[in-house]
Amino acid sequence: MQELPELDIYRALLAEQFAGVRITGIEVKNSKTFQVSPERLEHDVAGKAVWFVERRGKQLLFHLDNGKRLMLHMAQGAYLYKGSDVDQPKRPAQLIIRFSDQALYCIGLRADDMQLLSVKEVEEKLGRLGPDPFEKWLTVDRFIDRFAKKRGTLKAALIDQNIISGIGSVYADEICFDAEVRPDAKIPVLERETWERLYVSTHKVLKEAISKGGAGEQPFAEDDSLTGGYLAHFKVYNREGQSCPRCGATIVRMDVSTRKAYVCLSCQKDQ
Ligand SMILES: [Zn+2]
Repeated sequence: MQELPELDIYRALLAEQFAGVRITGIEVKNSKTFQVSPERLEHDVAGKAVWFVERRGKQLLFHLDNGKRLMLHMAQGAYLYKGSDVDQPKRPAQLIIRFSDQALYCIGLRADDMQLLSVKEVEEKLGRLGPDPFEKWLTVDRFIDRFAKKRGTLKAALIDQNIISGIGSVYADEICFDAEVRPDAKIPVLERETWERLYVSTHKVLKEAISKGGAGEQPFAEDDSLTGGYLAHFKVYNREGQSCPRCGATIVRMDVSTRKAYVCLSCQKDQ
């Protein structure tokens, strides 16, 4: 899975490794994943330094020192590996970004997952994204306001990137569990107290996942022992048939707005 915690960990690792470092070359192994002419690559990317790395929702943005941005979308199952000619990932990469003797291997990318954009183009593509859950101005009242006119299920709204960005199906289930509310609860009937719990749980669950290494299934580098540390800490996700860590009842899997959801029907309520 690639949701806010996993991407935030990538952002930190990439910034630590490559901020201020010059890109010495890009090899596009699958031209569908990064549709850019060799001339533009040579002119706009090769030889440019990465200023810093930003996460916007579920996108990573490499800010280059010529003002351009490389925007990377991580599809389900995609991962990044920092290696070298002698330390390569097992699966073939669709895209390899070289930084002298180091290389960033991008694996599992799909069509257009990497794009070379101007600042204006980034805004055109991401301008409608909802705020990040950690945005300072997103107080509890403003958080609640973002859901005010919605009518569907809680889970569908939590994963709607135009309401709040960064949350996907997995962490939505964990947030609902932490807030003791069912993912299939209908938005209009939720009480203010429930929203207040959801606000707190959103921060708590995402922060804890980041601090424990997220749930990425592939290491970022040979010596990376942090990535994936949160996989053992999920309370409901992928735990169908196991007992609820809060009340002991059996966790079930249900369909919510065409997505699967894991829930404890005993201690999660629908209001
Ligand atoms: Zn329970």
